Amino acid sequence: MASKKQISVGGVKIGGGAPISIQTMTNCNTEDVTATLSQIEKVADLGCDLIRVSCPTPGSTAALKKIVKHSPIPVIADIHFNYKRAIEAIEAGTACIRINPGNTPDEGIRESVNASKDNGTAIRIGINSGSIEKNILDKYGEPSVDAIVESAVTNCHKLEDLGFYNFKVSVKSSDVKTAIEAYRKLSRLIDYPLHLGITEAGTFLPGAIKSAIGIGSLLADGIGDTIRVSLSSDISDEILVARQILKSLGLLKNSVNIVSCPTCARTLIDVIGISKALNEYCEYIKKDLKISILGCVVNGIGEAKHADIGIFGFQKGIAKLYINGTEVATIKESEVLAKVKKIIDSWN
Ligand code: SF4
Repeated sequence: MASKKQISVGGVKIGGGAPISIQTMTNCNTEDVTATLSQIEKVADLGCDLIRVSCPTPGSTAALKKIVKHSPIPVIADIHFNYKRAIEAIEAGTACIRINPGNTPDEGIRESVNASKDNGTAIRIGINSGSIEKNILDKYGEPSVDAIVESAVTNCHKLEDLGFYNFKVSVKSSDVKTAIEAYRKLSRLIDYPLHLGITEAGTFLPGAIKSAIGIGSLLADGIGDTIRVSLSSDISDEILVARQILKSLGLLKNSVNIVSCPTCARTLIDVIGISKALNEYCEYIKKDLKISILGCVVNGIGEAKHADIGIFGFQKGIAKLYINGTEVATIKESEVLAKVKKIIDSWN
């Protein structure tokens, strides 16, 4: 279940009933401050709540200071192998570090925790099926669900033993079923916020579908507190898909939900053209609205009655317009788009 514990990452609350936050990761050289900030500003405008940047070099943690200072959203430093980068990132003011216990020595975890305590930095324990600790891998023989979960629980205990509780956990896998099972199992064992994701999900369409199935199934069960969609695509696409997953489950406040039919031989208006244009128009509009666009009266009236704005084909090229479940006008198909946009703009 969604975690009872809540942490704050640079002011963004995670867990404990807070809204599900969206994250992505920059993919330019972190040492290039201008390029990194430009990517961050772009995704922040699209609805990204938290940004992660890779810190593989001393130059990247040096750049982090400026990035943290000018970023419009909290910055998370992604650390692998060399815990010195974690310490530098914490000192640079990052809101959270992501460490991978599978490739971090115990000494590195201890020092990172101490520095996090001193600076109020949160930690993500990021378990990946591709980098489970050797002793756990030897025990299970493969990165099975049990191996992933044991690694996560062991590392939670390591941090607790150091008196540190300001952390969240992820148990990502590129295999959707493994990830779902691992998160389900982990959610029964710990109460810390969970960061959900299907790692290395692939290019836009397959990656979006894998993420929607994996992240969506867990969120529908009430599991998960923050999400990252990982795509081999422009990072803006990750925000687009993350928002759609949250929207589909009614978890994205202030967003427009558009219902439209697949069209058939009965279709009387250009449902596909109108809905595509409206989806683009509404993607980032911050209003709680349900709009239905249907081709004929078969389901058109019923959906229109349950939408804030309802449109359906009434005669060839002619549509009915409903507002708040009541018929208000009969309009030409060619006027539908402009009319609906005007209503959306003036909707309070
Ligand atoms: S609403 Fe009408 S036009 Fe659309 S798919 Fe159903 S029957 Fe066909």
